[in-house]
Amino acid sequence: MTSESGGPRCDRGAGDAAGHPAPRESDPLRRFAGIWCRAVHPLAATTMTPEEFEGYLLPLAHRLSAALRSSPFDTEAAYEVGAALVDAQCTEPDALPAILGVIDAHLVSCSSLGLPFSVPSGESFPVPSDGPSREPLADEEARARCVRLQHALAAGFVRELRERERDEQEAISRAAMAARTEAEKALHASEAKFQAVFEGAVIGVGIAGLDGEVLVVNDAMARMFGGMDFFRPGRNVTEFVHPDDVPGAHELYRELVNGERDHFRIEKPHYRDDGSELWTNLTVTLLRDSSGAPQYQLALAEDITEHRLLRERLRYEATHDELTGLPNRTLFLERLDQVLAADADAERFGVCYLDLDGFKAVNDSLGHAVGDRMLKAVAERLQRCVKAPAELLARVGGDEFLALVTGPAAQADGAGLARRMLAALAEPVRIEGRELRVRASIGVVDGLAGEIGRAEVLRSADITMYRAKAAGGNRFEIADADSNARVIARHSLTNGLPSALEKGEFFIEYQPLVRLTDGTVRGAEALVRWLHPVHGVLGPDQFIPLAEDTGLIVPLGRWVLEQAARQAREWRDAAEDDASLRVNVNLSPCQLSHPTLVSDTVAVLENAGLCPSALCLEVTENDLIGADETALRPLRQLADLGVDIALDDFGTGYSNLSYLRRLPVSQLKLDRSFTRGMQRAPADPVDVKIVEGIVSLAHTLDLAVTVEGVETAVQAEHLRGLGCDTAQGWYYARPGPPERLHTLALADAS
Ligand code: C2E
Ligand code: CA
Ligand code: CA
Repeated sequence: MTSESGGPRCDRGAGDAAGHPAPRESDPLRRFAGIWCRAVHPLAATTMTPEEFEGYLLPLAHRLSAALRSSPFDTEAAYEVGAALVDAQCTEPDALPAILGVIDAHLVSCSSLGLPFSVPSGESFPVPSDGPSREPLADEEARARCVRLQHALAAGFVRELRERERDEQEAISRAAMAARTEAEKALHASEAKFQAVFEGAVIGVGIAGLDGEVLVVNDAMARMFGGMDFFRPGRNVTEFVHPDDVPGAHELYRELVNGERDHFRIEKPHYRDDGSELWTNLTVTLLRDSSGAPQYQLALAEDITEHRLLRERLRYEATHDELTGLPNRTLFLERLDQVLAADADAERFGVCYLDLDGFKAVNDSLGHAVGDRMLKAVAERLQRCVKAPAELLARVGGDEFLALVTGPAAQADGAGLARRMLAALAEPVRIEGRELRVRASIGVVDGLAGEIGRAEVLRSADITMYRAKAAGGNRFEIADADSNARVIARHSLTNGLPSALEKGEFFIEYQPLVRLTDGTVRGAEALVRWLHPVHGVLGPDQFIPLAEDTGLIVPLGRWVLEQAARQAREWRDAAEDDASLRVNVNLSPCQLSHPTLVSDTVAVLENAGLCPSALCLEVTENDLIGADETALRPLRQLADLGVDIALDDFGTGYSNLSYLRRLPVSQLKLDRSFTRGMQRAPADPVDVKIVEGIVSLAHTLDLAVTVEGVETAVQAEHLRGLGCDTAQGWYYARPGPPERLHTLALADAS
């Protein structure tokens, strides 16, 4: 930027150069004002003529020129000039650049003629060393000052413009208030102001007659609905109904046009011109005439479509399962709550709680990707069973699904739905060339809405599903109070089981084993009991299966073994004659396959100071059916150490007698069912024959035979005659405390 660019255009008049008072035309600042006026007047929304406008600009030019030469230099005047230009309506978008362009090009040249700058010391410009070289330096200084004046002017301009906009906005909102609260002002006295609100508003504004005919809408409203064409003449707001209109919207509208209410606000869906959906936050206000009679309706609409979509997406994500796209537990429970809260006489409902059988094995052996695909396939098939609007299927956990049916009795049939779901899963699922069988257990709860709570429904469904599983799976069961109570009792026992061992709630009773030839006590079987804090003494049949299910049988079994071994040691210490009293301890299949069985047993015997031959471990026949050599190895090791192994409940399984040869057992315990027929004379001849056969076979295989359940003398005598070695039963003694065995053994000895 140099002064040359400005020089030739701002015709430096000779008069000025000579220093004489210039005529008006030749006054450089008047010329400046003229140039300024020509550049800016077309861009100003002013009502002034060009001459008037130039007259307005001249003092401003003087102020700028004076500021340029001020000492010390001060830009305040330029700031005020900026504001003054806004006041003169120079507010079109191009006005400011034009204003600054003229200043940049002409101010220095039009100001500096014959008027030397005073350069205060300390300014960053080099201090002139001699008179003649002043002019170029002064020019440079002038250019710098001019730039700063432009900045100041722009700042003042923008500031003023902003203030004015704010004032305008306030005026608009005041007008809006007036329009809404004092209808007659809006429509008559404040017509102009109202027009400003109407056109400038960002929100959609529309006015319709009381009959609903659309009279006028602003641009924002038209844009929202996809163009002005939407509001073509003759359109009526009553046409803008949408099937999803909030209930009661029509009533609100009717009240408004009847003058019974002044306004209402709703979220309302509409169709745009192109058929797409638009959601608005709509406020409709009644405008009355000066006498107070309803005249028009004013609608203010805010487009909340995006907002709503986002809200809907978030809601969808919160209520659906990502993997299968099915509703999740949250949504299911919402629906269930609605159904259950319905009027009691209204509806029946059925809930099916489905859990896949053996899904964990699929996941573990084939991987989670296959597991996920299986779940998707299952979800699709189940979804096909649940199609009616009154039905709902949800995935509520890894491999758990809940289905709901509602309606009149015939339709709300949980069992029917369960049957359909099982049928839908009957065909294997094909994944990566594999055919995977899908099995599921379903608990069905049917009921009458209003009569049962959500928690109870879910608990009952859960328990019933569990029953279906316990019954072998791939089936459904229907909830009933009795079975629920049984399962709940079982559950409550299971809950108390883990802590029972620590709390010392178990104890052992011993039942004598008697040698049939001479009636002497040879030992006893250890039988565990649970002194339950609530239910009293529980027999092993009531909790051993639970302990097996929960894995607690391993520590419990070890505890029984320890107690029994210590007890046997005590008996032996107390016995005077010989050290032959033995103890029998039952082993569960879980213990059999437990890796530390052998080492634990050896340690227990050592700790108790008991020789292995004083211990007999009882294993049921069923637990050994099909066991291969690997499975039998621990037992064989124990047998090799000298521990006796007895085959318990013999005769209740289906074992092949020749199979006995392969087992490391030294005793058979003949089940009570075989000896029952010999309780009274004459004995059942078939039973007699069977027992005879078994005893002879056992002896051939070098196995001793113990008979269980001997309740009468007749029976005992008969069994002795058949060659049985040992007997156990109420005839001799019921299971009891360990001290009693000692007494019995002593009685034998005497
Ligand atoms: P089991 O091994 O067959 O035990 C014999 C069962 O028959 C005992 O029932 C005993 O009380 C009962 N009994 C004995 N004599 C007679 C009789 O003359 N008539 C009748 N009607 N019954 C008689 P209990 O004590 O209820 O034991 C049931 C089962 O629990 C036992 O059957 C055994 O398999 C299991 N069990 C007991 N204690 C343990 C243990 O510590 N660990 C394991 N794993 N199982 C145990
Ligand atoms: Ca036993
Ligand atoms: Ca038995």
